[in-house]
Amino acid sequence: MTAPLVIVGAGHAAGQLFASLLQEGFKGDVTVIGEEPYLPYQRPPLSKKFLAGEMELDRLYVRPPAFYDKAGAGLMLGTRVAAIDRTARTVVTAAGTTVPYATLVIATGSRPRRLALPGADLDGVFYLRAIADVQAIQSRFAAGKRLVIVGGGYIGLELAAVAVKQGLQVTVLEQAPRLMARGVGPIVSTFYERIHREAGVTVVTGCAVTGFEGGDRVEQVACDSSRHAADIVVVGVGALPNVELARDAGLAVDNGIVVDDRCRTDDPAIYAIGDCTNQLHPLVGQRLRLESVHNALEQAKAAAAAICGKKLPQVQTPWFWSDQYDVKLQTAGLSGGHSDAVVRGDPGRGRSFAVFYLKDGVLIAVDAVNRVPEFMTSKQLIAGGARPDPARLGDERIDMKNIRG
Ligand SMILES: Cc1cc2nc3c(=O)[nH]c(=O)nc-3n(C[C@H](O)[C@H](O)[C@H](O)COP(=O)(O)OP(=O)(O)OC[C@H]3O[C@@H](n4cnc5c(N)ncnc54)[C@H](O)[C@@H]3O)c2cc1C
Repeated sequence: MTAPLVIVGAGHAAGQLFASLLQEGFKGDVTVIGEEPYLPYQRPPLSKKFLAGEMELDRLYVRPPAFYDKAGAGLMLGTRVAAIDRTARTVVTAAGTTVPYATLVIATGSRPRRLALPGADLDGVFYLRAIADVQAIQSRFAAGKRLVIVGGGYIGLELAAVAVKQGLQVTVLEQAPRLMARGVGPIVSTFYERIHREAGVTVVTGCAVTGFEGGDRVEQVACDSSRHAADIVVVGVGALPNVELARDAGLAVDNGIVVDDRCRTDDPAIYAIGDCTNQLHPLVGQRLRLESVHNALEQAKAAAAAICGKKLPQVQTPWFWSDQYDVKLQTAGLSGGHSDAVVRGDPGRGRSFAVFYLKDGVLIAVDAVNRVPEFMTSKQLIAGGARPDPARLGDERIDMKNIRG
């Protein structure tokens, strides 16, 4: 019997870690401690099908309840961990219960960045991270209501797509000059602005919110040069990693819990996985704090392999997706610092194209809009450090299978 393993946080990364530990043959007791009252669940549908009422709650679970019962998992749900005692090798819950560990995995995820602005606490101002947030937002959804979304990132825009389809009057306020500026290149931002406008969403860029106004409830959102009437406001302006437990326990934290290639912190008995981490990505060549399902899954698999003394899985190109209306965006790699952008297809008219980003001739990223072959091939090419011919990349007549580096 191996000594007990404790996972703090019962989110997507924790759910995958539990499954991967079983797969790798881990024989010890595993206890999962999560603040939310749910088994590990997937968050992407919260701004897509679950929000739209097209998906049942039990379909969100990473694994069904029977999986944990059969595996004999120790589940402490609805339980917040308040501290880690590295000397005693225990975690202490907010209620004061002490849980011993031989190996600890921190999988505490991230939380929405809150706006410290006047009126930010007014009734009707929401954030979107958890099932409870969706339920609160849905309780105010009704055709004709005015929804103002602060932040034109992927969560805000997915929410806009669902809400406008349900007949709400939707306004998106974005501080940057373009939408999804952190995630995609300018060509793709322009495309998304067009499809949202075509769907009836009011998009205002370059608009810094200065406060929320109203009596009992929010009634309008104030910007530096305009005011926008609102019945509901949802703020989606980025996320902060939940690093406080690690920091207070004296672990290295630098924009996320610092981990090595095995997802181990600077304490050999403690690992960290998912949104809360900061790790050197060998294919990108820099330390990254990624907020994506792919990262959560890959780090969970790597940690499970490391804990069980197995070979680490091969590192993959980071990737991400977003669903808005009938449009699936898939991005691979990181486009920051690119020297050339090559377009395949027509972003100005259709709803299907890809933008390839090259740096000194090397393909470093792709934004693929309803283009699965472009996405799949690029992922491989990026991982291999390929130097594809830009003219061939941009030529629709050449099958992606025949693009090489
Ligand atoms: C609305 C939304 C849409 C998204 N869409 C996409 C998408 O389309 N594609 C994509 O790739 N990614 C998407 N993401 C991001 C993706 O869901 C996250 O990257 C992923 O959930 C990270 O998994 P995690 O386990 O690290 O964190 P989480 O899933 O956030 O889990 C962390 C858990 O730890 C708990 N916790 C925190 N502190 C404590 C504590 N002290 N004690 C006990 N428990 C604690 C939290 O309550 C939480 O339940 C989306 C995220 C959101 C919010």
